[in-house]
Amino acid sequence: MGKNMIGAFYQPQRVVCDLATLQSLPARELSAGLAEVIKYGPIADLAFMTWLEAHVADLRALNPQALAHAVQRSCEIKAWVVAQDERESGLRAILNFGHTFGHAIEAGLGFGEWLHGEAVGCGMVMAARLSQRLGMVEAAFVDRLVTLIDRAGLPIQGPRLGADTYLHHMRVDKKALGGDIRFVLIDGQGQAEVRGAPDALVAEVIEASCAT
Ligand SMILES: [Zn+2]
Repeated sequence: MGKNMIGAFYQPQRVVCDLATLQSLPARELSAGLAEVIKYGPIADLAFMTWLEAHVADLRALNPQALAHAVQRSCEIKAWVVAQDERESGLRAILNFGHTFGHAIEAGLGFGEWLHGEAVGCGMVMAARLSQRLGMVEAAFVDRLVTLIDRAGLPIQGPRLGADTYLHHMRVDKKALGGDIRFVLIDGQGQAEVRGAPDALVAEVIEASCAT
């Protein structure tokens, strides 16, 4: 294993992350990748979120130690969530935080217009605001998360496609159960849950989160 390789080993799966390839990533793609790292904070590990707040500039500057920690912690949290889900409790669905709204952005704009991670970043903003509207999380925590996503170089305002377009794409998403849209929502304490929400509330959050 080369010095730029970090291995995080778990049974039965082995995860090897090649940090050298990150060094050659364009800034936009690195930011997109950070969306999939940031998501682990609010759903599973507030200490990691605090670490990301302190090191997001280092990550964007491709600091090797910061990248190594971010990748390792992401792998560890993912493995932990999947391990907790061995009895098919459905917990692993929380790994899709930001992805329900993000999928609608990708599908609504045409895939490839935004990078997947960009759509997920903005999708996390919308999911966090929906969690707030449902009384699950404090506004201050949502502000913290939105600031972090913004500082990672990700969009925090969605494309103005109209709430109906978003709802349509979310409803036909393969993860929707019989047309019921499932959202990964956060509680601000480092935990997430998957549940539905009233269309009217979702539409309000979308309209409030789109560029004018
Ligand atoms: Zn993703």
